[in-house]
This record gives sequence, C-alpha cells and structure tokens, in this order.
Amino acid sequence: MKYYDKLIFELSKPGRTGYSLPASSACGTADALPDGLKRGAAPALPEVCEIDVVRHYTNLSQMNFGVDTGFYPLGSCTMKYNPKINEEVAAMPGFTGLHPLQPAETVKGVQTVYDEMDKALAAITGMKHFTFLPCAGAHGELTGLMLMREYHMSRGDLARTKVIVPDSAHGTNPASAAVCGLEIVVVKSRENGLVDVESLKPLLGPDIAGIMMTNPNTLGLFERDIKEIAALVHGCGGLLYYDGANMNPLLGVVRPGDMGFDIMHLNLHKTFSTPHGGGGPGSGPVGVADRVVPFLQIPRVSGFHGNFGIILRAYAYILMLGRENIRMAGRLATLGANYIKESLKDCYKLPIPTVCKHEFVFDGLINDGAREGVAGATTLDVAKRLLDYGFHAPTIYFPLLFHQAIMIEPTETESLETLDSFIGVMRKIAEEAAADPEMLHSAPHNTPIGRPDETTAARQPVLKYAA
Ligand SMILES: *Cc1c(COP(=O)(O)O)cnc(C)c1O
Repeated sequence: MKYYDKLIFELSKPGRTGYSLPASSACGTADALPDGLKRGAAPALPEVCEIDVVRHYTNLSQMNFGVDTGFYPLGSCTMKYNPKINEEVAAMPGFTGLHPLQPAETVKGVQTVYDEMDKALAAITGMKHFTFLPCAGAHGELTGLMLMREYHMSRGDLARTKVIVPDSAHGTNPASAAVCGLEIVVVKSRENGLVDVESLKPLLGPDIAGIMMTNPNTLGLFERDIKEIAALVHGCGGLLYYDGANMNPLLGVVRPGDMGFDIMHLNLHKTFSTPHGGGGPGSGPVGVADRVVPFLQIPRVSGFHGNFGIILRAYAYILMLGRENIRMAGRLATLGANYIKESLKDCYKLPIPTVCKHEFVFDGLINDGAREGVAGATTLDVAKRLLDYGFHAPTIYFPLLFHQAIMIEPTETESLETLDSFIGVMRKIAEEAAADPEMLHSAPHNTPIGRPDETTAARQPVLKYAA
C-alpha cells in the first residue's frame, strides 16, 4: 500500500502537533482584533506531526509527471528538456526585481533583450520583424490573421473573407480563423499526408485572404510542394500564414520566410526553452515579412514587460546554442523520431511510411489481440499502460485523420538509452495486447488513479477534502 492511500486528514489525531513555539508576548494581540474579524471556530486543519507533513507534500510532488521525472513524448507539444541554466538567467534578481510600472527609461535592459530577440528570431525564421504581444500560439494565430485582414483592407481589397486550412491542421488554426471572422475552406491531403496541390487550385480566387499551414505539418511531414503552393496563393492575391509551433525540427535548417510565408507565429513555450502545457504563461511572438511590417501594432510588447521570463529563457537558449548548434537541435529531434518510428513499425500500424521530421503518427496496434468474444487493445489502452512503465503517454486520437492515432514526438534532448527503453516498453505492450488485451483494458495498474471519467474530472473536479 502506498503512503498516499491515506489522506493527511485521515492521519489526523486530536492534539498531535508538528511544531512547538515559545510562549510569546505577541500572543495577546489577537485580543486586539475587532470581533467581526475573528474566526468563529478554529480552521479544520489536520493534526499531524512534522514528518507526516513532509511526506504529504513530498508524495504529492511525486504524483505529478514532468519532463524532469521521465520521458514525455507528447506529439505536437515539443516537451523537451529545458536547460536549467536558462531558468537561472530568467531568475536573476535584476530581472525578477523589476517593477511592472517602472518608467521606460529605467528598463533599457528589458528593451535591449526584446530588440535582440527580434533580431535573433528574424534570423532564424527569415521574417523581417516580430511583435511580442501574443501570449500563446493560438493568440499568435489570431494576431497574425488580423494582420492579414488589415493588409487586404488597406489595399481596399475587401472581398477576401476566406482562409484555406488543410484537413491535417492543428485545431487552433480553424478556430482562430473563425474567431477572426473569416470563413474556413478546407483543402484535402493526399494519401501521403501532404496538401493536395490539385485540390488547392480550384479553391483560389479573389475571395481568398490566405492559407494557414504548418510545415512540417501535424503528421510530422515536410510539405515538399510549399514553393508551388506559395506561388499559387500569392498568384491569387492571398498571403501565407505559417503556424510555427512545429519549428523545432527546422531550427537552423530551413526558414519559413524562404519558403514564401508572409506571417507566422512561434511557440517560445515549446521550441525555445519553456515547457508547454500545464496552463502556465506562454509567448507566441508573430513575425512578418516586409510588406506586413507597417501593420504591426505599437507597442510590440504586451503590458508590464510581457511574459518576460519566457523571453529571457528563449534568449539565453538561442545565445547558448548559437548558429551552429541550434541546427543540431532540429536534426537530432528528426533523427530520434525516425529511429522510434522505424524500430516499432513491425508492431504498430504506420499509415504513412515516409521519412518524418520531429514527430510521426501510428494508427494503433497491428496485433491488438482481438478475437471472438474479446475486444482488442485500443490506442487508449496502450497510452494507459505506458503510465505503468513510468512513461508519459504520447498524444492520442489526434490528428483526426486516423481512428487510432498515436502521435510520438521524442525531441532532441533524449539519449539513445532513453529512446531504446521506450521502444522496449512499446514492444512489450504490443506483446501484452496480443496475449491478454483484457489486462490492458483496465490499465494503468500502478498509478494512484486509474481511469477517471475524463469529462467529470475536467468539469467537476473534487479538489477539497469533504469529511
Ligand atoms: C501547440 C500548437 C498550437 C497552439 O499553441 P498554444 O500555445 O497552445 O495556443 C498551434 N499549432 C500547433 C501546430 C501546435 O502544436
């Protein structure tokens, strides 16, 4: 039985304490408080000794999975390890001690960091300038689409109300376009997972504001026809928006600006040393090509110096790697993904067998153990079973192109040994599925919580102890 099978409230015994304080003359001050401010009864805190409190918090901290505790191959999220020195830079007292309302002339250092970041990101992406207003990837998409609209409106080109989005797009793309008041036109992918140029051609016309793409796309595939797509979209008067959340494998290798994109966002909280997920602060700077620069909003940093800690981590990360090494990050991320893909494709269905970039998608198990009267193991079962072996589950059931999608993104920071042990466990699970799918249906077996009702857990979580 694990220690945390008992809650700290259940360990409570009346009169047990974890502290002793010297009698103090200050104790009398409670009497000086007006009655209206005093509690009617003592708070219902558990009465336990010091070691129980220490174990309570230490065990709680270990119930959380993080990239510091294990491999986290979450597709489309780039959950790479972020070097601790970047945290130290962001925590330097000169930065953390800044007052949000300090006069501009006393925060020249902040301004310099933003200016330098503008230059660094422009060099990495081939864009002209960046705005640091957006605080997330999706926020960047909306900002970028508003810039696209401004661009057309400034030219009196008012009929451009539609935006083309590939069927493989990240869900935020059509969502941002809809929030921006644009109509969404879906362009199909071919069997090989790439945008179908022939299906794109008839969609183009004087009503098209532009196209939103990510390259590599959400299947981890590089859109080889991007030059032709750019020429076609520009030819009809539209602009190209680049969803740069997937920039990791291209760092120092290819630049969206050179592919023909006019507007893009980056996820600093993915690619540039701040973890994604968990709902923490983010940063989704938007870069634009020359002709869109006049439409950038002023100022280019959000209130109170923006999410400055994220900018600092990204700045430290870029300077630390430098021009030569930053391309190693992208290349290693690509190598790791292909290594896992090739090592597992005899156990898991690989719908698109070509070379991938930073991530790839399996479509469930080849042998899921299904037989008469016994249902086979699903992608959900595989993901849950991985938790038993101490790995975070990959992204599942996304992208929507496949029914049993498992989307794996190992990132560049994992050693060969870690990749090998993940591959070993994935193979073991495939064997378990063939032999005993029932056991997988009830996995995980070793975690504090098994299979919560995911809707209730998200919508009506029980966060408080009820005696
Ligand atoms: C993560 C991601 C986004 C959205 O970024 P948020 O910061 O979560 O809003 C958009 N597009 C792609 C391809 C992504 O992977």
